[in-house]
Amino acid sequence: RAKQKGRNAWECFTSDINDEVSMRMALRNDLQEAIEAQNFELHYQPLLGARGGEIVGFEALVRWNHPIKGYLSPGLFIPLAEETGQIGPISEWVLRQACRDMCRLAAEGYGRYRVSVNLSPLQFRRTNFLSNLQQALRETGLPPDCLELELTEGILMIDTVAAVETLHHLRDMGVEVSIDDFGTGFSSLSYLKQLPIGKIKIDRSFVRDVTVNRHDGAIVQGIISMAHHLGLGVVAEGIEEAAQRDFLTAHGCDVFQGFFFARPMPLEALRVYLKERTIEVGPAQVLQRNAD
Ligand code: C2E
Ligand code: MG
Ligand code: MG
Ligand code: MG
Repeated sequence: RAKQKGRNAWECFTSDINDEVSMRMALRNDLQEAIEAQNFELHYQPLLGARGGEIVGFEALVRWNHPIKGYLSPGLFIPLAEETGQIGPISEWVLRQACRDMCRLAAEGYGRYRVSVNLSPLQFRRTNFLSNLQQALRETGLPPDCLELELTEGILMIDTVAAVETLHHLRDMGVEVSIDDFGTGFSSLSYLKQLPIGKIKIDRSFVRDVTVNRHDGAIVQGIISMAHHLGLGVVAEGIEEAAQRDFLTAHGCDVFQGFFFARPMPLEALRVYLKERTIEVGPAQVLQRNAD
């Protein structure tokens, strides 16, 4: 009986593997077609000043516009694309599209905003990363200070010396850099002091229970205080409730991002959002709010 059970288990195991392999192969082929057809779209999520509520920028978040399955979230295909190397052309597209969209918004009179683009580890480590970036800025006409790159702690830990050098070049170019998902990675705090970066983004997992779990509350307070002492700005991501916002405001967080304020949206919806906010708040009040 044990033998039979064992064989069934093995059969089950192999068929699972086959399913997994064939599913991934199908996904990979679909992804290749999507790359060729440029079936991707960027959605933008507003980042808001914690004190004045003014828009300080947008994070560009890629979606795969699948002909049958609809919008697919990056969590479903970015990890695979990183394994297969397909992340290269996707990243190129994302960077250029984000730059083009920001230029377009400015040209249409919506204002000049900074866009944050997520970088994959492979992209950052490529030897021609900086020259590619410069080329993208030149081609699209986006001023370097309107671009922010979001890197994860992991990217910086792989080869710290090379990473620090690249970061210095970015700073010289005027491109802003932030550390994404802060607190979830390697978390060696000593590296922070040697990195020429502008801000850190507290990971959503800490924000979620910040008001109900005193450990998360303590961690978030600690991160904000440490970041400020190092001269870094602090963004909190994943804010879904007023209570979370209030906690973060009370502890001096600088920038807010989350569904509580706005969800990621296509460019067309972003135009509507920007129009509505200008009417609602009014340019004069925005200026006044920014001043205090
Ligand atoms: P991330 O960079 O940490 O982006 C924030 C994620 O949190 C986004 O998920 C956003 O939709 C989500 N989010 C924002 N506010 C809230 C909230 O209040 N509640 C909840 N539950 N979620 C919130 P998304 O768009 O699914 O992206 C997931 C991850 O995929 C990103 O995490 C980023 O690591 C990666 N990603 C997205 N776009 C790109 C890209 O163009 N290139 C690369 N390499 N990675 C990307
Ligand atoms: Mg991000
Ligand atoms: Mg993040
Ligand atoms: Mg995150």
